[in-house]
This record gives sequence, C-alpha cells and structure tokens, in this order.
Amino acid sequence: MRIDLHTHSDRSDGTDEPAELMRVAAEAGLDVVALTDHDTTAGWVEAAEARPDGLRLVRGAELSCESPDGRGGRVSVHILAYLFDPEHPALLTEQTRLRGERRERLTTMVGRMAADGYPVDPETFMAGLPPELPAGRPHLARALVEQGVVDSVNEAFAKLLNNSSRYYIPRADTPVSVALEMIASAGGVCVFAHPFARRRGRIVEPSVIIDLAVEGLAGVEVDHPDHAPEDRAALRALAADLNLVTTGSSDYHGTNKTTPIAAETTAPDMFDRLVAKATATPVLG
Ligand code: AMP
Ligand code: ZN
Ligand code: FE
Ligand code: FE
Repeated sequence: MRIDLHTHSDRSDGTDEPAELMRVAAEAGLDVVALTDHDTTAGWVEAAEARPDGLRLVRGAELSCESPDGRGGRVSVHILAYLFDPEHPALLTEQTRLRGERRERLTTMVGRMAADGYPVDPETFMAGLPPELPAGRPHLARALVEQGVVDSVNEAFAKLLNNSSRYYIPRADTPVSVALEMIASAGGVCVFAHPFARRRGRIVEPSVIIDLAVEGLAGVEVDHPDHAPEDRAALRALAADLNLVTTGSSDYHGTNKTTPIAAETTAPDMFDRLVAKATATPVLG
C-alpha cells in the first residue's frame, strides 16, 4: 500500500488540474492519495469523478492557521484537515474570509514590488487570477518567471518572496485552536502539516504540539521534504509519547515545486488510525 496524504492541484497553488492529479497519482503507483488544496475544497468533485478504479481519494484541505503563541510570538501553522463535511457553515465562512485576505495581501505585495520597479502591476496581476482561487505567493512567483525577473519559482522564493523578504506580508490566518474545533464539528480529523519545516520561517516549540494534542489534533506530518532527519526523529518520538498518528507526504505542487508525487508516504496502519477518527459522511472514494 502506497499512501500520499498531501497534494495540491491548480484549485490552489499546484499546477495539475484535479483530474490530472488523479492520473499522476495512479501512474506513480499510489493506492491512496489525499487532495489537500489550500483553504478550498473546490477540487473534490472533479478529482472524485476522475479517480481511476483502484485509487482511493481522501478529501482534504490544508488550512492556513496561526499559533498566536508558538512560544515567543505568532507562528504560521498549516493544518491538514481530512474527511470533513465541506458544507459546514463556519468552515465556508472562514474559507471565504481567508480567500479575501489572501487577495488583499498579495495585492499589497505586488504593489510594493511595482514601487521598486519590478515589471508587475497589482491590478493586471490580480485580474488574471480567478476570484475564487486561494491566491498565494506561488502564483506571483510564476508571474515573475513569465516576466523574466527570475528563472524559476524556487528562485522567486529564494530572492523575493520568502518570509524574510522585504516584500513578504503575513496574513491574518485562522487561530489553530479555532481550526481544530471547526474541523471536529464538521466531522473531520486534523494533522499538523510540516511542523518542523524550518526553512519556511519560525516553527512552534514542541510544547505547542502537546497543547494541540489535548485540543484534538489527531496526527503530525513527520516525513515531509522540508524536514531534516533529526527533526523527523524528534517528531516521531514526540508523537509516540502523545499517541498521535504520524504521516508522510510529498506536498506535491506539480511544476511549482521539484518534489514528485509519492516522494514520501504514510504507513497503512497510521492511515487506518486516522480514518477511524473521522465521523463525517464524505469518507473515502
Ligand atoms: P502563501 O500561502 O502565499 O503564504 O504561500 C505559501 C506557499 O508557497 C506554500 O504552498 C508553500 O508550499 C509555497 N512555498 C514556500 N516556500 C517555497 C519555495 N521555496 N519554493 C516553492 N514554493 C514555496
Ligand atoms: Zn502550496
Ligand atoms: Fe503547507
Ligand atoms: Fe502543502
């Protein structure tokens, strides 16, 4: 059994359409794939319709959250939510708010770059993005590649869009405790995405993960391309202490990242434990 529980389609900042993603997953030899676009479930139906026989689809999303006190201040946190009711009213309201927040913040970032002479225009750029799209830095990165400012999305992040860049603007994301509560009431389960991905910016202290486990967090993503071996070991040990499920996933983004789908995988027994915790109807396809 090969299981990849974290992928993005072009309904957020990946480059494959949901249907194409299902084909890529099957070709890579996956038995189970989760679609986890940022702050949207817009790809679920198309993915489910395109799903080949023999490939199971886990409906999910990656929620943009923040830990108000990651110990020493605010820390950005991503939560992988699975198998929840996509029509849950509080969830829909929050996703709509986040999409607005994403557009506003990206407009300001592009404005700052334009003021510094980069060949980007906030109005033109934003007009080119569908209104329902959870717009993010990878979309801006691609525009910068198209304009010849940089050669790749990676270079755009390294030089201009990373969290330490003068153009970077944080968002008002969902407090992580609120997200856990919402997903629980929508019948789903939550996994902390790449908790120790240090190169993206500040990470939470381990004590924050202990608090979240008490608040209902089901698991932690241990095997992730951005995790160093020693951090994986520390996280696995912490998860064992807290009886949390551990997952492994590629965080595939099509050509917006270099990691191929199925580059990291989840153990079948861990996947079974995760599914057993979900209570909503939209379970597995
Ligand atoms: P945003 O949601 O606008 O803050 O952008 C975050 C997105 O950018 C996430 O999906 C990350 O996976 C992606 N990202 C962060 N760093 C990099 C990088 N160095 N190269 C490519 N994508 C990145
Ligand atoms: Zn992404
Ligand atoms: Fe993430
Ligand atoms: Fe992701």
